Amino acid sequence: MFTRSLSTRIKRLVFNRHAELFGVAACSKCWIGDELEYHHIIAVNDMGDDSLSNFILLCHRCHKQWHLEGDMKIDFWEWLKIPHTEVANQVYSLAAEYNKNAPIIMVKEGIEKYQRERTEKIRKMTEKGS
Ligand SMILES: [Zn+2]
Repeated sequence: MFTRSLSTRIKRLVFNRHAELFGVAACSKCWIGDELEYHHIIAVNDMGDDSLSNFILLCHRCHKQWHLEGDMKIDFWEWLKIPHTEVANQVYSLAAEYNKNAPIIMVKEGIEKYQRERTEKIRKMTEKGS
């Protein structure tokens, strides 16, 4: 990962595209909306460019996690489909609070399904971009 300045125009386009799709601009991995950064889907070192279709939003924490652990080891889109552990745990405990009888496996499957669908939406959105 290396940092360089991106044009304000591209930043605004990427941000707005996420906001349009989900109602709010947030991390594509953990759904948290702060400390957002612009991630190159195809790395600059692999001839990725600065076009709109090559960017998605990740929070600082997930961005760092991808470049430390995921990069070069697993497919980016596969990594994105795996629910963020901390978020999943928060949802599990909320569900358990509301319904003590909720089978945890159903909650888990629901989160995983949602994350897969969400990733596909983001993927399609970046394909449509210019
Ligand atoms: Zn994140």
